Amino acid sequence: MSDPRFSATKAQHTEIPRPKRGEGQWALGYTEPLNKNEQSKKDDDPLNVRDRILHVYSKRGFASIDPADLRGRFRWMGLYTQRAPGFDGGKTATVAEEELDDSYFMMRVRSDGRLLDAGTVRALGEVGVEYARDTADVTDRENIQYHWIRVEDVPAIWERLEAAGLDTTEACGDSPRPFLGSPVAGVAKDEIIDGSSALAEIKRRYIGDPAFSNFPRKFKTALTGHPSHDVAPEVNDVAFVGTVHPEHGPGFDVWVGGGLSTNPMLAQKLGVWIPLDQVPDVWEGVASIFRDYGYRRLRSRARLKFLVADWGVEKFREVLEKEYLGRELVSCESPASPTGHRDHVGVHEQKDGNFYVGLAPSAGRVSGTTLVALADLMERHGVAGARLTPYQKIVLIGVAPDQVEPLVEALDGIGLPARPSGWRQNTMACTGIEFCKLAIVETKARARDLVTELEKRFPGLDVPITVNVNGCPNACARTQVADIGLKGQLVMHEGQQVDGFQVHLGGATGLQANFGRKLRAHKVTSAGLDDYVTVVVTNFLADRADDESFAGWVAR
Ligand code: SF4
Repeated sequence: MSDPRFSATKAQHTEIPRPKRGEGQWALGYTEPLNKNEQSKKDDDPLNVRDRILHVYSKRGFASIDPADLRGRFRWMGLYTQRAPGFDGGKTATVAEEELDDSYFMMRVRSDGRLLDAGTVRALGEVGVEYARDTADVTDRENIQYHWIRVEDVPAIWERLEAAGLDTTEACGDSPRPFLGSPVAGVAKDEIIDGSSALAEIKRRYIGDPAFSNFPRKFKTALTGHPSHDVAPEVNDVAFVGTVHPEHGPGFDVWVGGGLSTNPMLAQKLGVWIPLDQVPDVWEGVASIFRDYGYRRLRSRARLKFLVADWGVEKFREVLEKEYLGRELVSCESPASPTGHRDHVGVHEQKDGNFYVGLAPSAGRVSGTTLVALADLMERHGVAGARLTPYQKIVLIGVAPDQVEPLVEALDGIGLPARPSGWRQNTMACTGIEFCKLAIVETKARARDLVTELEKRFPGLDVPITVNVNGCPNACARTQVADIGLKGQLVMHEGQQVDGFQVHLGGATGLQANFGRKLRAHKVTSAGLDDYVTVVVTNFLADRADDESFAGWVAR
């Protein structure tokens, strides 16, 4: 096979000077690996680990796994080792790390914006029940995430998932990670354009393709034709966002270079108009720029956002047009992002007269049993399908008018309310210390308990206040774009280091997109979180002007 690094369809080179000290940009000739991650990817295409899992590791067991596969290439198959039970990251010395059973995995299953029918939801639930100790979380990348997976069970799990049209390929790793698609694609009354077919085509062409399996780091894609911009396009590496050209009609603008973590940046708009059938080609162009020009020296500077920040959006567009597409793109003013809910929770009429119903699990925590029960309800009430959302929610599509109320009542009975409190609707949490090896603090249970308490203290809150709980600075649950963003860390309390959070206040996406202010003095213990949020919300309610949002109040 030819070296995929140089297989891009380059039409014409732009003038990009070769810097004295390379950052590992392949297109500038810096092809020697500059760190161990790059070396590992060069040693063997990470996609090859699939065969070894199927034919070697699953048969010989955990101890047989090559460390380079275990710590690296397994991610390309959606598998991470999970935090050993009982290990607290070394905060206490009661259990030595090497004595712990570290042999379980978390597994992510991509949904890529697909409509999941009842049979598929049932398959997802059954895998959770049978192989994952009844775990099955909904993540904010529209994945189902399992825990407690044994390598011996992976072939059987893949067989079950693949029979339902699902996969885990490139759900992690330096690869095209799971796509975010509009949960209401094709059914929303106010949709600009249905982009589902383009997302499916990108997946068909490029997922599992060795030409796109070695990016400098992760590469996150989002696509929506809904005017609410319901896929958080601001924080993705590449996003296609529905827009209307005055002559050509509906199409997509392209946003590039968004991402959070420790150097958060909002995506920048190219200001173009792409017709639906050209979206996959443009995705290939943007992905190729990242592969060829992305920085590979430091992992901390390897996301696309750093390249976009250095080049500027005009140069990025020029390189895309000249080197990768071989043509100019049509310019078009990009629509402003609206404020307001993007999660589709509640009951909403579709354009065909049926309804879609958005459900709010507690901070994305579901279970295999719950998914099986959901599949039962979908069959009983004739629901066309379910989609996962970037806000850890589930949207049921195609509910007949006479089935809405009986369905909503039954959903309450399995812990999936369609009319949740504002606190439950607007709170997200990442995986946290329960399973994540990078975590510093616990998140899911903390978020659930916080919601329960806030529901009592502010039962009739009339304005949405988003709370995003994160277990470490990596911001998987988007610390910086919440009204109250919580970043897990150890904080001092009465002379001791205890679990807590650095607080970011007033972050937002949409029209008021900006990062929350990190208030150095606002560090709160995990135990003191309920009271901290209570004080902040009480002050906001007492001080706000008419119709003022929380983010607007913080920005004053
Ligand atoms: Fe793990 Fe940190 Fe991401 Fe939470 S934010 S899932 S703790 S890496």
